[in-house]
Amino acid sequence: MLEDKNPQRTPLEQMGEFGLIDHLTKKFELGQPSSLKGIGDDAAVLDFKDKLAVVSTDMLVEGVHFDLGYVPLKHLGYKSVIVNLSDIYAMNAMATQVTVSLAVSNRFPLEALEEFYAGVALACKGYGVDLVGGDTTSSQKGMIISVTALGTAEQGTLAYRSGGRPGDLLVVSGDLGAAYLGLQVLEREKEVFKVNPDNQPDLSPYTYLVERQLKPEARKDIVELLRALEVRPTSMIDVSDGLSSEILHLCRNGELGCMLYEDKIPLDPTVISTAEEFKMDSSLIALSGGEDYELLFTIAQDDYSKIKGNPNMTIIGHMAQKSEGAQLITRAGTQIPLRAQGWNSFG
Ligand code: ADP
Ligand code: MG
Repeated sequence: MLEDKNPQRTPLEQMGEFGLIDHLTKKFELGQPSSLKGIGDDAAVLDFKDKLAVVSTDMLVEGVHFDLGYVPLKHLGYKSVIVNLSDIYAMNAMATQVTVSLAVSNRFPLEALEEFYAGVALACKGYGVDLVGGDTTSSQKGMIISVTALGTAEQGTLAYRSGGRPGDLLVVSGDLGAAYLGLQVLEREKEVFKVNPDNQPDLSPYTYLVERQLKPEARKDIVELLRALEVRPTSMIDVSDGLSSEILHLCRNGELGCMLYEDKIPLDPTVISTAEEFKMDSSLIALSGGEDYELLFTIAQDDYSKIKGNPNMTIIGHMAQKSEGAQLITRAGTQIPLRAQGWNSFG
């Protein structure tokens, strides 16, 4: 289904380590004022002046976090950067630099890594961050990617997971569940392809879902929007593991309870229709699916009028006293405890 578009296969041995690093990174330029020295010395040099610096790292392992059977390498490069930027924005900070480290087996030709770096470059450009370093090494089998993202924030503007208060409104950006369903669609097509390799899948009804899975975006725009609206989130987290798991993090870290309203959870129409096709419950998909990379945050009730009616965010509930527990109020009006594994908690 996803043929190698680039027929050339230059063995990595032919490049040498330094030749390879230079080849992959020479087109990257520095744009951030804080990037004093990027690739090419023993360490990058950054100058954040009087700002707070934030750092986040993630590792992605072939066969565990991604399947090169249906994930094009360019998308993988893009997504590897995006998921890290999302963590920086989830602190209510602005991302400034990334480092990208790779372990690859000799099964990968140079052209494959070029594709990967084309995706890295696209993400860096789109979000205005600089690639300032990394590491390159070989692996026995498969590909391992580690990305570190750096960012900055003004004193007193960071949003921790722990900052919520009882009565704060619980808000989420965008819509949920599409990335999970996109993965289900891709997995299904992979099985069909195994049986009949000539079959060209028609993914057009699922464009939004597949795009949310393969080419997620980080919500830098939400951090900027909140700033423009003069709303300071009291706590924040990004939705990487599914809504219920992230809400429980905010509850646990803030020593809070919460009330989440099922009918408020924002769902794209294709999520609803495709969930029906897969005989799944769309609310459960939003609660447990993950990889949406939306921002989940709490705001003081006084800020309600500033965000009311904004199409980029939805109020889905409110925080409560710890003693009240974390509760889901279903469409039918029943109250049930929210669980990280939403699938098993209410059948
Ligand atoms: P060292 O031997 O000190 O680890 P390297 O030869 O690994 O140095 O790296 C040289 C430079 O290239 C450093 O600036 C490093 O950050 C950068 N670099 C190495 N690998 C990558 C990569 N995969 N992507 C981006 N930069 C890289
Ligand atoms: Mg090195």
